[in-house]
Amino acid sequence: MPELPEVEVIRRELEPLVGDKIFATPRLLFPGSVRFPAPNEFIDRLPGCRIRSLQRRGKYLIFQLSRGLLLVHLRMTGRLLFSEEGVAAPEPTHLRVVLPFQEGGALNFYDMRKFGGLWLSPGRRGLPPGFLKLGPDLYREVDRERFAALLGSHRRARLKSLLLNQRVFSGLGNIYTDESLYRSRLHPRRPAGSLTPKEIDSLYRAISRLLKRGIRYGGTSIRDFRGATDREGSFQDYLEVYGRRDKPCRRCGTPILRITVGGRGTYLCPRCQPEDSSPTG
Ligand SMILES: [Zn+2]
Repeated sequence: MPELPEVEVIRRELEPLVGDKIFATPRLLFPGSVRFPAPNEFIDRLPGCRIRSLQRRGKYLIFQLSRGLLLVHLRMTGRLLFSEEGVAAPEPTHLRVVLPFQEGGALNFYDMRKFGGLWLSPGRRGLPPGFLKLGPDLYREVDRERFAALLGSHRRARLKSLLLNQRVFSGLGNIYTDESLYRSRLHPRRPAGSLTPKEIDSLYRAISRLLKRGIRYGGTSIRDFRGATDREGSFQDYLEVYGRRDKPCRRCGTPILRITVGGRGTYLCPRCQPEDSSPTG
């Protein structure tokens, strides 16, 4: 599933392609992908809206329009590709929504699993609760002090679950969370309140570096992530634990484990990330 770096890669690629363009009449091949408003209203309201800017918060893409907002969330398998030809589709079977522009070309929304969605709203009305309650964006809005304070106000939460909680920090998913915890040598089940100031620093630095690097390498193309121009990212080549079950840890040679934390599959090195390494408290 695309996480903060992948969505940021899409944003950076798309903005120069679609900025200032005006939407024409959308085509809903799968109306269920439009979460708000009703499909007919969506088709009525979007034409004539000009894209003022393209922003990102957490894993949401936010098109600031001349009238309101268009939000897109890719969830598991969503993809948003710009095509000069409009509807010429590399994957017609999973094409759900076509958003053509008056100037020519179109944004095509593909979604194999259909968990992703689009919201068009004049203001806050109709926007998903997950967006309205989104915590600060880990790439742009969280400095070290704020990070420490947020950990401090969720002392009993397990690190893995806390980092995935989009209401506390927005942007991380399974891949970047597991990689950050490995790089800072923290067990995913450690309670947030058990970290020493040094460990908090190390985790914060690991997250910041990973997000920057993920963006620089064009994202992580596991399963089928592609940028907005259908280019693959290469960050998957730099993963240390995610998806490496039973393979040797690159630091110590111990086989990588896959466990479940808070219902989520989690990869770690049991030697580099011991569960009971810290003073309690
Ligand atoms: Zn190790």
